[in-house]
Amino acid sequence: MTVKIIDGKCVAAGFIEEAKKQTSILKASGVTPGLAVVLVGNDPASQIYVNLKAKACQEVGINSQVLRLPAHTTEKELLQLLRELNNQADVHGILVQLPLPGQIRTQEVIKAISPLKDVDGFHPVNTGLLWEGNPRFVPCTPLGCLKLLDAYGCELAGKHAVVVGRSNIVGKPMVALLLQRNATVSVCHSHTKDLYVITRQADVLIAAAGQPHLLGAEAVKSGAFVLDVGTNRLPSGKLVGDVDFEGVREKAGYLSPVPGGVGPLTIAMLLLNTIKAVKYRDE
Ligand code: NAD
Repeated sequence: MTVKIIDGKCVAAGFIEEAKKQTSILKASGVTPGLAVVLVGNDPASQIYVNLKAKACQEVGINSQVLRLPAHTTEKELLQLLRELNNQADVHGILVQLPLPGQIRTQEVIKAISPLKDVDGFHPVNTGLLWEGNPRFVPCTPLGCLKLLDAYGCELAGKHAVVVGRSNIVGKPMVALLLQRNATVSVCHSHTKDLYVITRQADVLIAAAGQPHLLGAEAVKSGAFVLDVGTNRLPSGKLVGDVDFEGVREKAGYLSPVPGGVGPLTIAMLLLNTIKAVKYRDE
């Protein structure tokens, strides 16, 4: 089986071009899309993600501001900042980089972002709209996965899709999107017994467990479409996915690498969600 390696950078480049075009149309009409990114604390991975997001905004002409708060920020202080950003007319999208320090409740923070500015798509209202089949903002990583499946011509109706991971930010919204496309969906998680018995049935396998090399060739059906969301830093500093790339490339039909697979799509979807937020500003 000759595997096709999915080129996330190339697919994302198309969406970035689209974001550039849409931003310049908005600018010509007198509106510059604005994104506020809030970072609490000094988590090194979060710093990298926030900088990547700001750089991508700059590239397409979105006005981004990164608000860096100290690690000891209280929940009350963060909620106050979010109230101010919710009321700021030139801020169309708000994103709070996760994870947050332990003294702050993540769900309270997510709920405090206006659902009309919630470009990460994590607010319960946006989650509800997604599950209802009438999405407003869809979380960027699962949306990016769907765009990769589309870009490589993966027809989902009637296929068995298996999602490994059930987090609110990747696994669950991924399931909702796959169901909307009429796939038959199984969800595996940390309590799943005989994981590989299920993953081996997958025509489309999406790995989002955050476990380095959890899925090897023995976990994959021959010819399957495999997307690796996992981003795991090994003690050596190397970045690897949840899929054993070298083993699985001998078996899969399509396979996304880490890095260079899903990651670039996540950023591209954030840009498009921010542009979309301009449309919602007066609702
Ligand atoms: P999470 O820790 O919130 O959730 C992990 C999920 O995997 C849980 O539902 C858990 O039940 C499941 N799981 C853990 N161990 C398992 C096992 N052995 N077998 C089966 N299921 C298992 O993580 P998350 O935020 O959903 O992120 C998942 C991974 O995706 C992480 O590596 C994260 O860094 C990466 N990620 C990448 C991007 C990107 O843009 N590429 C974006 C978001 C997350």
